[in-house]
This record gives sequence, structure tokens and C-alpha cells, in this order.
Amino acid sequence: MNGGRQAAFPPWLEGHLGPLIRLISSGHTPPGLLVTGPKGVGKGVLVRAFLQRMACTEAAEGLFGCGRCNGCRSFRGGTHPEILQVTPEAPGKEIVVDSIRSVIEFLSLSHGGPARMVFIEPAEAMNVNAANALLKTLEEPPGGAMLLLAAAQPARLPATVRSRCRLLRVPVPERAALRNWLIPFEQDELSADEALAACLDRPLEARALLDDEAAQAAWRSDRTALETLLRSESPFPVIQRFLECDLASLLPRLQRLLVSAQHYLVQGETDAFARLFGTDLLGPFAAGLGMRETALLYQDSLQWQRELQAPLNPNLRCEDIVLRFWRRVGPS
Ligand SMILES: [Zn+2]
Repeated sequence: MNGGRQAAFPPWLEGHLGPLIRLISSGHTPPGLLVTGPKGVGKGVLVRAFLQRMACTEAAEGLFGCGRCNGCRSFRGGTHPEILQVTPEAPGKEIVVDSIRSVIEFLSLSHGGPARMVFIEPAEAMNVNAANALLKTLEEPPGGAMLLLAAAQPARLPATVRSRCRLLRVPVPERAALRNWLIPFEQDELSADEALAACLDRPLEARALLDDEAAQAAWRSDRTALETLLRSESPFPVIQRFLECDLASLLPRLQRLLVSAQHYLVQGETDAFARLFGTDLLGPFAAGLGMRETALLYQDSLQWQRELQAPLNPNLRCEDIVLRFWRRVGPS
């Protein structure tokens, strides 16, 4: 997020930013703040805008950092002396206790200067030891420090962590507001509605899809792979297509397709996601699967997603997924 370009800031987050800034200036800083809301709603964008505003030495008032001063620059470069951001080593990995030990050390070095701030995202990625190590600091952060946690699945955090934080919930904005925000970015071949459906109704991902060629290429590969799955008489072309995809992007869409299949079996109509693949593909596929197999495949797909973190040759993994899928589809 560019602090100077406020127009790019998602409007549904603005209402949360002002109260956060006022909280600090009122002197009632909570030791811990837990920001929750669905994936892709902008929890990280909100917290980083807030942190940059805190780092900014020029923004006397207003919601945003100036984007030009040393404070803003060092924050965005990740070198601000009072702000530490903690993420897993790689997406999907755990935040381990060593990372939390560096948080504790960072806060212990605070001496008389401005209160330090630490942002942990996604907080539910902390394993049990890491979360336990954080508890004491959450109770009494040294030097008036503030810990900010963002979590799409706060239930995965220990209750002891949740109960020590002030909660800030960021809900998904209304559909009409989302569309209005996305319409200026529409592409010839991709509408705001299609982008939202393709990104499982996650606003920031839909925005990236409309704006970013890499996201568009990933979506094209995923769509081709799922279309091939819906059409193909044999697993082998499907395996080929799956190999061309990033499974971290493909698997949530595969899950979503199974939800569409269930929806079709119950309601007798295709939903917005299924319509991305042509109107006549999902019906026969869903009917061929049936309710029970669709539900079992959905369970499988959750397992495949968990297994993504285990090291495995990508060819083997794709083959394994598609063949397990095929066993359930069971072409007679
Ligand atoms: Zn600034």
C-alpha cells in the first residue's frame, strides 16, 4: 500500500483506520490487538497502513502516512527501528518459537524511545510453543509496546491468546460496494463479477486478478485445469494440466468447484463459480459424482491442502491427487 496514494486503499478499511489511530493518540493503547476477518478482506493492508501512519513523521493528521518521509520509507523497507513484522518463513509454514523469541528480544531492547510495535501475520500460523511464548509479553508488553495479530481463523489461536487481545473484526463489504470498487479495474475478458467468483469472493485477490498479469496467468492455468477435469474421459490430460498450475492456488479453486457441484445437486442450478467454466460442464459432472462422492472428495481436498506443506515431488503429488480423484469419479 502506498501511503501517498489513498485512492488505492480499500474504502471498507478506512472506517477501521481512524479509530485505531485515535486509540494510540488517546494514550489507551491495548497491549494486544487481534484483527479478524475472512481471507483476502484486507486485514494485513489495514494493519500495515496503521503501522506506516505510526511510523510517519510528517502526517500530523489524516489517515495515511505521507509515503515520503524517512519514517514511511524505513517502514516500507522493513527497517524501521520501532516496528517488527513477523510472518512464516514461507506461506503455509508455521511461525515457530524462535520467531517469538526474537519478538521478545526486540521488545526488551525498547528503552525510553517511542513504544515499539510488532505485527504477527497470520497469527494462527503460530504453533503451540510459539503462542505460549507470546503469552507473557501479551500480558505485560515492555515499554507500552503493542502487539498486533491478524487471523482469518482466530479459533485456531489458543483461547489464552485471544482473551488477552482487544478484538477488531473486519467483515466482507456488501457485494454492491465491492463491485463498485472493482469495476474501474475491469478487463475486456474479465468482469468484476467474474474476478470475484474466480477469487472465491476475496476482494483483494479479485483486485489483484484484474490488475496483475501473473495472477491472470495463474487463473488461466487453474481454469484450464478444472475445465479439463470436468471434461476429460481420462485422468492423464488432467494430470498434465494440474502440473502447469501452482497447487496452492489451484486446490482452493478445486474445493470451490466441489461446493458448486454440491450446490448443483441440491438446487439444480449452477452458481457463479461454476458458470466460469461454461454452463453445460458442471451438471453432468456433478450428476456423475453424486452427493456422497462429492462430499468425500471435498474431505480429500482439505487433506491435499494440508499435505502441501510436506515436501513431495510435484509430479507425484499431481498424479496422486488426480488419481485419487479419479477413483472417486470412477468412470464405469
Ligand atoms: Zn511519512
